[in-house]
Amino acid sequence: MTYNTTRLYLLIAVSVIVMLSWFFAITLWWLILPSAVYLACLIYGSSVIQANFFSPAYCSAQTAEKIIALSFDDGPHAEYTPQVLALLAQYKATASFFVIGKNIHGNESLLKQIDSEGHSIGNHTYSHSFFIDFKNVQGFKNELNQTAELVFNSIGKKMQLFRPPYGVTTPHLAKAAKQLDYHTIGWNIRSLDTTNDTVEVITQRVQSQMQSGAIILLHDTSSKTMQVLEQILNFAQNNGYKIVSVERLLKINAYR
Ligand SMILES: [Zn+2]
Repeated sequence: MTYNTTRLYLLIAVSVIVMLSWFFAITLWWLILPSAVYLACLIYGSSVIQANFFSPAYCSAQTAEKIIALSFDDGPHAEYTPQVLALLAQYKATASFFVIGKNIHGNESLLKQIDSEGHSIGNHTYSHSFFIDFKNVQGFKNELNQTAELVFNSIGKKMQLFRPPYGVTTPHLAKAAKQLDYHTIGWNIRSLDTTNDTVEVITQRVQSQMQSGAIILLHDTSSKTMQVLEQILNFAQNNGYKIVSVERLLKINAYR
């Protein structure tokens, strides 16, 4: 079920109802029904990245290897990103960092450190604004290009991985990402580490879903996540999982 097929079904349903109304005593109020279903599909499709509704997104990999990918959104963070890097180094793990452009100012050295320690950097827009999904295609392109330029100026690489803010996709966002040739990256294990849940609950949530090919979503923005991360890394090591960056799991390029 994609945006295009949903629109086609809506068109068919509306046409059938209108035609029936010509020949039978059918009121056009019946149009409310397909409209409501269409709206429900749009809401589901834009909020659930695994639905691949507006654009295809990589959310996991099929692999025979015992391997999982870690991803950190919303950095770089002056306090917590270095702590994440230290923990990853301790466990010989690599990860992907989806950075927000406006957080880069003053933290350029962190980008260099992420890159030099073998992790990858992806685009998570410039503003990550709560209202970002109301932007048009050009607005999204500006968001992506601004962050791409900042990252290029720091590490000299052109990013190709993109993660939509809040995991929400829209037709405009999908078009912008496609025109700028980004791989849209989702996840299949959402830690919910930015909620009020305890370290134990979050850790349990991730560990109970851990399986080969998974992409785990975390945020390098809180001390709680540091505690969760240490437990996850420990659990993965004890269970024989190798932890890598997203592009290595998916066998795609992080940079162009
Ligand atoms: Zn985010």
